[in-house]
Amino acid sequence: MSAQSSSNTRRSTAAAETKTSLDNTSHPGRPGLDELVPSRYALRVGEIDVLVVSDGVLSLPGAMLGHNADPAVRSAWLENMFQPPDVLEWALNAVVVRSGGRTILIDAGIGMDPGLNLPKAGQLIHRLEAAGVDLASVTDVVLTHLHMDHCGGLLVDGVRERLRPDLRIHLEAAEVEFWASPDFSHVSMPPGFPDALRRTAKRFLNEYHNQLRPFEKEYEVAPGVLVTRTGGHTPGHSVVRLASGGDRLTFAGDAVFQVGFEHPDWYNGFEHDPEEAARVRVRLLRELAANREALVATHLSFPSVCHVAVAGNVFRWVPAFWDY
Ligand SMILES: [Zn+2]
Repeated sequence: MSAQSSSNTRRSTAAAETKTSLDNTSHPGRPGLDELVPSRYALRVGEIDVLVVSDGVLSLPGAMLGHNADPAVRSAWLENMFQPPDVLEWALNAVVVRSGGRTILIDAGIGMDPGLNLPKAGQLIHRLEAAGVDLASVTDVVLTHLHMDHCGGLLVDGVRERLRPDLRIHLEAAEVEFWASPDFSHVSMPPGFPDALRRTAKRFLNEYHNQLRPFEKEYEVAPGVLVTRTGGHTPGHSVVRLASGGDRLTFAGDAVFQVGFEHPDWYNGFEHDPEEAARVRVRLLRELAANREALVATHLSFPSVCHVAVAGNVFRWVPAFWDY
């Protein structure tokens, strides 16, 4: 695995840089080709090109990171992470993978703010463009699951028209089935979220019905790009395993959150089957630690490329050194 220069896709010019100022470009929430905050990170896994692109961040209540945890322990964790007690900024990462002539978008960000006051997210489409990724070049989309922060970008006005008509959208069959009548009895979300999630998933399945290619259990999207169902977070939640020339990297979607290294048994508020989600998390982290594989995940701090080490009964997060 090595970082790859993306200078060929860099669009900012000296002139553009001259007119930038900290006032209007240092905020990740502001669109523009001349953003000073980096929103993409490229690396290679053997022959496979990988580009992590940030959709922005989601500001969510701190309790979401472990609704079964003792509130005092949870507050102490936030304090130890130098985070405020009431709100946590969750990164929102998507990935573009190129292998065997196919261009695969893994997850699609949240898209338009669905009335939930998440103004720092929804940046993916213009950031893909800024990274030189033409929507018409995308041959496949893999969705780890149908929560709106993973599929909403494809519902932004005008996006569908710019995607190719023969686009294939891969989603585990159980996920499609789940959203016909979703069970929210074990989640712990802020008000408004369950309705927004139901609405967005339903709308997505309607609008992209013809492009959907549901798979059972696992599917090889391109050489060395295998999407595999884990369940837990949602019934059809899947991860993407990349393998080429002895290199390996897993995109874990929502199977792993930042707090999950130290507290893998904490229930995230968005998990529809939190007990199973915790089992999935522990199994995956153990496996990644054992085979020393790289990890990228949706809500780990951008660019989220890291490794996993075992630390007693729990795990240790080892961020990759930036290579650029
Ligand atoms: Zn998510």
